[in-house]
Amino acid sequence: MNMEAANAADKPAEKTVGKDFIRNKIDLAIKDGLDPQSIQTRFPPEPNGYLHIGHAKSICLNFGIAKEYGGKCNLRFDDTNPVKEDTEYVDAIQEDVRWLGFEWNGEARYASDYFERLYELAEQLISMGKAYVDSQSAEEIQATRGTLTEPGKDSPYRERAVAESLDLFRRMKAGEFPDGALVLRAKIDMASPNVVMRDPVLYRIRHAHHHRTGDKWCIYPMYDFTHCISDSTEHVNYSLCSLEFENNRELYDWVLRTLGLFPSQQTEFARLNMNGTLLSKRKLIQLVTQKHVAGWDDPRLPTICGLRRRGYTPEAIRDFCERIGVSRANSRVEYSLLEFCVREHLNKIAPRLMAVLNPVKVIIENYPENQVDWFEMPLNPEDPDQGSRKVPFCRELLIERDDFMENPPSKFHRLAPGKEVRLRYAYYLTCKEVQKDANGNIVALICTYDPESKGGGTPDGRKVKGTLHWVSARHAVKAEARLYDRLFTQDDPEEGLAEGQDFTTNLNPDSLSVAEAWMEPALAAYKPGDRVQFERLGYFSVDPDSTAERKIFNRIVGLKDTWAKIAAK
Ligand code: ATP
Ligand code: MG
Repeated sequence: MNMEAANAADKPAEKTVGKDFIRNKIDLAIKDGLDPQSIQTRFPPEPNGYLHIGHAKSICLNFGIAKEYGGKCNLRFDDTNPVKEDTEYVDAIQEDVRWLGFEWNGEARYASDYFERLYELAEQLISMGKAYVDSQSAEEIQATRGTLTEPGKDSPYRERAVAESLDLFRRMKAGEFPDGALVLRAKIDMASPNVVMRDPVLYRIRHAHHHRTGDKWCIYPMYDFTHCISDSTEHVNYSLCSLEFENNRELYDWVLRTLGLFPSQQTEFARLNMNGTLLSKRKLIQLVTQKHVAGWDDPRLPTICGLRRRGYTPEAIRDFCERIGVSRANSRVEYSLLEFCVREHLNKIAPRLMAVLNPVKVIIENYPENQVDWFEMPLNPEDPDQGSRKVPFCRELLIERDDFMENPPSKFHRLAPGKEVRLRYAYYLTCKEVQKDANGNIVALICTYDPESKGGGTPDGRKVKGTLHWVSARHAVKAEARLYDRLFTQDDPEEGLAEGQDFTTNLNPDSLSVAEAWMEPALAAYKPGDRVQFERLGYFSVDPDSTAERKIFNRIVGLKDTWAKIAAK
């Protein structure tokens, strides 16, 4: 095993000082008389994939603000695209939000709950002369939208009579037209410098089954029409979304103002991007469907369920979201910051036990053949409340192959011929001889122990520099250890792609390696979801695919500082 890899990057990070711009804005509004209890936010996922760590940022922001100020946060599924959506995703999203430690206000809501209301408001816009049915094809509409520097062209149907648009819209709803034949457009301004305002499409025909409304509708409202009205219907006053919707704000305001609805306000913040991974449902779906990973909850994915399966804690993810803060500046965050947060939390809560991943046998010549010492060891020396467990010691042990060197350099403080080390919580051990097979491979280390050193010290007070973890060969329980490395070989998986390549080109072929683990017997009792530290190797969690006979341990993250952690004991 590579001890350097176990030492994975460690990056201290400061908590953000002070409040972010959104909370500052809320504080000002409160000063001006806003009742904090009237603060209403929402988290509006589209149920077309699983949530990822980027969504966690949005969840912590929306639910966090509601919690801090005594307001409310709704969970609303933005389910206006019947083709890509699924109840599987709806269930998974609810599970993930709850697992992150948040509870929404009342029942989960759905944009589709508002289809009737949206339809009525659309008719209202038509009646006001603020929307019309366009008979142009999607391509024609696209081609006449203009560019950033040139205005668009009015549709030949723009001046269609209100009655005619109303009639067509009703017949669209009644299913008289095929997909794409007609659309409803807002009548705003084809010369607007903001392209979003150039008569945006509000409704389209889609003869498709919807996961909640079934076959009731064959016209579906577009995001820009649905989102603001859903927010307004729920009296959301702080509608927080990512920066790519900045240009849509003008339309958001136009719809609510024109219809005279509750004036919800949209505020944008920068979305989370992380080095070494991808935060886009579409791309994550590709990794899953093309079987580059084992599923949505593959522990290498940045999905919430993947992180959960890997063994990350909700506390660590919330801490991470707090540390990255909220701003309007796009940036990329180092993955190691998330790992830092996980380590910080696991360091407090995880019991520490021993397992050996790449063993070499130790035979203690002067230890009686049939003797067993049962050592009572603390589960976490820094937290006596975690209790203790019993660990057997006998004549034959396993230690990490990396912890022995036949010809060590001078700074090597682990085991070598003639050198003495401490076995964690047990005895001092000295290597006498190396046993090899015919090919020169080491098969065993012949050692002696000092019976006077029981518990880790000697009456003469002599010092040893290295402390090794170990397990009794006879009592060791075997398990599978899954060791993960980053999913992609470069920080930005989409950078520098050649023609015809996509981000999968940059998948790391070694992102998963499987090792056999020899564990102390107490580890056999740990259950799926439990998290432990294997001393000096990292934090691990028990995978749900474990069976009673064979456990699978996922390495969550390596240790901060392998050697400092094991300070003389
Ligand atoms: P994706 O691009 O992964 O499909 P999305 O924005 O389409 O993401 P939604 O389900 O529409 O996903 O997102 C729900 C909420 O989560 C939105 O308010 C969106 O702004 C927010 N969100 C999504 N991705 C991120 C991210 N990387 N960082 C911060 N917020 C995000
Ligand atoms: Mg979306």
